[in-house]
Parts: sequence; C-alpha cells; structure tokens
Amino acid sequence: MYERLSFIIIFTMHLSSTLSKKILAWYDNSKRNLPWRVSKKSPKKLYYRLLSEFMLQQTQVKTVIPYFKKFTKKYNTLESLSRINENQILKLWEGLGYYRRARNLLASTKIIVKEYNSKLPNTLNEIKRLPEVGDYTANALLGFIYNKPTIAIDGNVKRVFSRYLNKKESKINFEKLISLNKKNLFNTNRNSDFIEALMEFGALICKPKDPKCSICCLNKSCSYLRSSKKIKFNKRKKIKIMNYNIFCYINKKKQIALTKENEISFLKNFNLPLIKLMKSNYVNKDWKFLKNYKNSISNLNLNINLYYKFSNKIPKSYNWYSLNSNKELIPSFTKKIFNQVSTLF
Ligand code: SF4
Repeated sequence: MYERLSFIIIFTMHLSSTLSKKILAWYDNSKRNLPWRVSKKSPKKLYYRLLSEFMLQQTQVKTVIPYFKKFTKKYNTLESLSRINENQILKLWEGLGYYRRARNLLASTKIIVKEYNSKLPNTLNEIKRLPEVGDYTANALLGFIYNKPTIAIDGNVKRVFSRYLNKKESKINFEKLISLNKKNLFNTNRNSDFIEALMEFGALICKPKDPKCSICCLNKSCSYLRSSKKIKFNKRKKIKIMNYNIFCYINKKKQIALTKENEISFLKNFNLPLIKLMKSNYVNKDWKFLKNYKNSISNLNLNINLYYKFSNKIPKSYNWYSLNSNKELIPSFTKKIFNQVSTLF
C-alpha cells in the first residue's frame, strides 16, 4: 500500500504538465520530417501510421523510409493494400526482414477494411485483436488516430522516464503511468503529438549512449542528471550463437531445390534448402562441404556449414528454383545461400 502511494506521489510530483509542455515545445522545433507524419486531418493518416508502425518494429527509421515510400507509391490507400495477396506483400517487403510483420500487416488491413469500414477500432482491446498487435502498437495507434490520452511504451520511452526519475525501468509501473495519463497526468490535449514527442525525444536526445543532457529541455529537473547515484542500465542483449548445417540439392541447370519444411522458426513458410541444427561433426559423405560462413539475424549469430550435392532426384516437398531467380520472394538469408552455391558454376 505504502509503495503504491509513494509511486503515485513521485509520479505526480515529478511528471506534470510542465514536462509535456517542454517536450512538446522541443518536438515542435526539432522533430524529424518523416513521411508517415501527415497532418491530423489527412485521409492517409490511418494507412500511413499502420504501415509505419508495422515496419518500425525492430527496424530503424532510416531502413524503413525507402520501404514506406515504395509501398505507398504502389498502393496509395489502405483499401488498395488490403486487396493484394500474401505473395505480393512479401515480395514488396523483401529485404526488410521479419516477414511475419508483412503477413500480419496485410491481415490487419483486410480486417480494418472489411469489418470496420476502413476505420481503426476505437478501443484498446479491439485494436489488440488485430493479428499480433500488442500493447505498444495498440496504444500508439489509439493516440495517433483518435488523439486519446495514452502513451506508447517502447524502449525509448522507458529509458526517458527511467532517466528522468532516476529509477530502474523494472521499478516503474508503466501501466500505472498510462492509467494516470488517462486522468490527465500530463494535462495536454495534444495527446497524439505527445506520444510521438516522447519517442522522438528518446531517439534523439535521451539516447541510450551519451544522452545530450547539455541541450536537453528537461535538464533542470532531471533526477538522473542531478543525482550522485545514477541508475545503471542493463547491458545489451547477449548475442546467441547457433550452429546449423545447410544441405543444398543442386543440378547442372544451375538450379537449387527448396522446401518450406525447415527447422528454423523465424524462417517458417519460406522456401529454403534443408536446414538442420548442427548436433555433431558427422555428415553423410554424399554431401560435399562447400563453405563455413556466418550470418547475423537480430541477436542471433548463425554459424553455418554449407553442403551441396548434385542430384536430379529431390524429396517430394522440394521444388527447383533457378539460382538467378528474382521473381520469387527470396529473403536475404536465402540470397546468401544462393550466392555461395553460385560459386560452384
Ligand atoms: S537531462 Fe539527460 S538524462 Fe535527463 S532527460 Fe535529459 S537527456 Fe535524459
């Protein structure tokens, strides 16, 4: 009970309309010009926000911008995107990685267009029923589209509050923060801008390394800056090393056999050669060793031994693909395999 009370007191004392005013003033002067930031009255607002929110998950702004432009040039409305099929969206998404996002984006656009008459549902719970839309995205969309007083808690926002209060992220009740904001904690009617301003502030000023305290609009009241006992941040996620054997059937026509039945969960549903976890050094002598190489995906470092076999016979679930193919969807993971195998010809 005491803890809960002290939490609320700290928050309401330290976080107030002054904080929102300062951050919004900074945002008005310093925000980046990003293509999905359209005017509040723009009919494209929902489409642009939905598209950018899916693309920005685990991907940097500078990587997303060209993809966002490519998508909106080809499909300029939510409705036109909703009418395409999975292969079309995956092809357009090619190279952006985490392809599940593309499938979920497409499924979400179809639901919004068909079941909600092209409008975003207006409650958090309904938005969270869209495929794999979690608290962060649902809060962001609710704020952006309906200007609701909410906060989208991503890594940047967590860090800003953590530093400002000089409290470890794990000790801050962010759910409580959102519910206090519903009761006007930050006292602003620019809720949509405030959500974005907090994220932008974390990305540009209160950065993970070397926060720009000397030019920060909050430096007079920031507990982290003033404290002699500054909180420490957890080190970056550990990189995990995974060892795989990849077995490629190839033929003299410069083709490679691919199947969707592989063992790597994050590449499920993609056409790939046979991929197996490397459990021992033993490999059937029918397979010839081609190369060892590394491939990094997110916090995984893949150590790969690549094998090949010339063969005209392939198992049932496989199909032949040209090593020069550019018509099919080829994730960068597969492209690397293609490049390695092409050296045999
Ligand atoms: S003063 Fe420094 S640590 Fe505090 S909020 Fe600003 S940038 Fe972050």
